[in-house]
Amino acid sequence: MSNFKKISKMEYYKKLVMKECQRNRILVTKWNEGGGGQALVIQREIEIPIPTNILNLGWCFHEIGHVVHNHIWRKKSYVQEYEAEIYALNKLKELGFKSYVLYEYNAKWHVIRTLIKSHNKGYSMTKVPLEITQWLAEGKFGINILLWDQDYLIKLNGNINSIKDIVLTYYKRKKPL
Ligand SMILES: [Zn+2]
Repeated sequence: MSNFKKISKMEYYKKLVMKECQRNRILVTKWNEGGGGQALVIQREIEIPIPTNILNLGWCFHEIGHVVHNHIWRKKSYVQEYEAEIYALNKLKELGFKSYVLYEYNAKWHVIRTLIKSHNKGYSMTKVPLEITQWLAEGKFGINILLWDQDYLIKLNGNINSIKDIVLTYYKRKKPL
């Protein structure tokens, strides 16, 4: 009988996450079976999904990123989400995951959704740093947000599971009478 134990992908991913947590003195308080995550930055505690694929593995690193970047409401939420996503992406690349591009695609849409929330509350997209708009626009799944204008409200339709599901609708904002 072989002495080698077959280590499942999930166990391997969990080890990578635990290593990153230990390196940054972060405690995992819960592994969520159905996905979902959050970071308690001051306490250095995170709740993260059980990593079974590149998407939820990246999500684990995303929550670690919030703690490492010390995100305690000093920055705009889209900047925090951007920084956490870049942290996750760099970690996936550093670990040699070629499929990080799949995560990158989701990461861009996560930042876009956060941006849209700010936009619809009246935040001017002209304030969005060039670094972020360039990151959103580059690559295979690049999203060009140069069309955004203060006179328009932007809405995402449906669930985004693939590039085909993306429908951006631009509404002309109603002018007050
Ligand atoms: Zn986040």
